[in-house]
Amino acid sequence: MDKAEKKRLLKNWKNAEKEKFESTLPVPRETFEKLFDYVDGCLDTAGCSHDLRFTVEFLNNHQIPLEPVVEFLQKNGGYCDCEVLMNVEDKLKNCLF
Ligand SMILES: [Zn+2]
Repeated sequence: MDKAEKKRLLKNWKNAEKEKFESTLPVPRETFEKLFDYVDGCLDTAGCSHDLRFTVEFLNNHQIPLEPVVEFLQKNGGYCDCEVLMNVEDKLKNCLF
């Protein structure tokens, strides 16, 4: 196997992993990115109130069912708005769930 072939295989594997990862998300990655932006903006002005207030607000505003998303966030260490940003945003960026 030459270098280029190795690289190609690795890329395929990474894509497959990424797809597998994305299929475990309760909502599309883009929705999470919007959620993080929203929560980030709210925390800047209001600060964290040690619950998922802004996360829930965002989900309600977009008519997204709360339960699967909240469950997913908590499973990944996001028990309040600032933890969502701290723990979940990074993982999502790096596909680390
Ligand atoms: Zn917090």
